Amino acid sequence: MPHAYIGFGSNVGDRLSYIRQALDCLSGDGCTSVVQVSSIYETEPLGNEEQNWFLNGVAKVETDVLPPKLLAILQEIERKLGRQQSEHWGPREIDLDILLYDRFCVSSPRLTIPHTEMHQRRFVLEPFAEIAPDVVHPIFQERVDALLRRATDWAIVRVFSPPPTIGTEC
Ligand code: ATP
Ligand code: CA
Ligand code: CA
Repeated sequence: MPHAYIGFGSNVGDRLSYIRQALDCLSGDGCTSVVQVSSIYETEPLGNEEQNWFLNGVAKVETDVLPPKLLAILQEIERKLGRQQSEHWGPREIDLDILLYDRFCVSSPRLTIPHTEMHQRRFVLEPFAEIAPDVVHPIFQERVDALLRRATDWAIVRVFSPPPTIGTEC
């Protein structure tokens, strides 16, 4: 079955609860199961700095749906958890991005895989390298741990809590 890596983040309300609920929904979805989750990291916001710090992490999932359907599942979970339409890089209850999907490359107006920014965001690369340092980025042909060493984003990223345990209650 294909594997994908999902980046998640929250900086509104009970951030950890939103993340737990999102991972539970993903796991209970029927098409997708969560195989591994990174520790939760607290991270300094990029772009709009007048907002709360984020909690971020990365989950490895096994899925039997193709990337567009996986995106639709993630967006449905975002809606279900009450994410409002919000400004780009602005505050959000939950954000779920497809970082990688096996070695697929997708480029369409609604979906780009690998995620266009993943290789330069420390808040993605730190948790990603924790669970999958040897995964190779299919465009740059570099391992995730090598991308992390080269990252020039120095926004603060620090461990907040251990990997959450995943249920299937949604
Ligand atoms: P960023 O993409 O820089 O992390 P963001 O997560 O704040 O920004 P959103 O407002 O959540 O952006 O999403 C905007 C659009 O990005 C979505 O409607 C979706 O169609 C598109 N998109 C493109 N590629 C991806 C991807 N790999 N994962 C999730 N969404 C994607
Ligand atoms: Ca995002
Ligand atoms: Ca997003």
